[in-house]
Amino acid sequence: MKNTPSVQRTTKQPINLAAIRQAFQRWSNSPDPLTRLTRRLSTTLSLETQLGILAEEIGNAIPFDALSYRHTIAHRDFVFATGMGGPHQCEYRLNLEGFFYGTLTLNRRKRFTDDELQAIEMVISAAIFPLRNACQYIAIEQAALTDALTSIPNKRALDEHLQRASSLSDRHGEEYTLILCDLDHFKTVNDQHGHVVGDHLLKLTAEAIENAIRNSDSVYRFGGEEFAILLPHTGEREARDVADRVRNAVGDIKIDCGGTELSVTISCGLARHLCEESPSQWIARADEALYRAKAQGRNCTRVFASIG
Ligand code: GH3
Ligand code: MG
Ligand code: MG
Repeated sequence: MKNTPSVQRTTKQPINLAAIRQAFQRWSNSPDPLTRLTRRLSTTLSLETQLGILAEEIGNAIPFDALSYRHTIAHRDFVFATGMGGPHQCEYRLNLEGFFYGTLTLNRRKRFTDDELQAIEMVISAAIFPLRNACQYIAIEQAALTDALTSIPNKRALDEHLQRASSLSDRHGEEYTLILCDLDHFKTVNDQHGHVVGDHLLKLTAEAIENAIRNSDSVYRFGGEEFAILLPHTGEREARDVADRVRNAVGDIKIDCGGTELSVTISCGLARHLCEESPSQWIARADEALYRAKAQGRNCTRVFASIG
């Protein structure tokens, strides 16, 4: 059977196999709706899939017209909705062990009776532990793709997005440009003002870049004092303007260091994605352009010019 778990025994103590086999059969074939619900929910950590299962299982017991769920996880809105409207509504805030795990709403054309509401509440209570696990899984996944210092996406997120952008560019001919930016003489900032000031400057730089780019563009912390910007539907000329805007925004950062004002500059290298090139080849070309920007005086933008 597709979903039958397979496990290997490691101990040799005598067991009452018949009783356990019976219990296992009861558990896996149970017509009891809550056993079935929790068994099904335990097969996935996808919040979306879990909510689909929950909607199905509530619907088997209590007909409804629409179910929706919303929650903010790791600063992002998560919304799930199935079905359409109905003026009567019951809404539940999901709380567990002092933490909040979203709001679940059911709508129906017909009023919910007290018995139905009690039944819904029991089904939701049985679902709340797996839902909590799915929410935490999203938060952990998000944390793994986020840079802890600046709160912007990290290199791992960039690798994923570059891979996707490369295939879209190859398959549909969409234009993508990558900008690599590197703070100038940042080691001197650390040496003269200490790492705390250095860290603060990295945070301000990430903010300045975020504010200087468009909503469709995204910025990543590529390395220590290096940032990457991915620009969809953008060619070299337009990307160059974005890079210059970023340089101006970073140049405008001022930190008061007890009487002296600290400011920095940033160098940028950019490359448009070429057909059939891998993300690492693409990065290498942007890096080469950045190297030229450094060699040719810093605080400037250089383009790895594509042919055609
Ligand atoms: P260049 O203009 O050639 O890029 O010179 P640079 O000094 O910026 O480059 P270099 O590679 O010599 O030094 C980078 C410095 O960035 C050294 C390192 O200590 C610092 N750095 C890297 N990550 C962090 C961080 O998370 N916090 C702080 N404060 N400093 C960092
Ligand atoms: Mg560097
Ligand atoms: Mg540097």
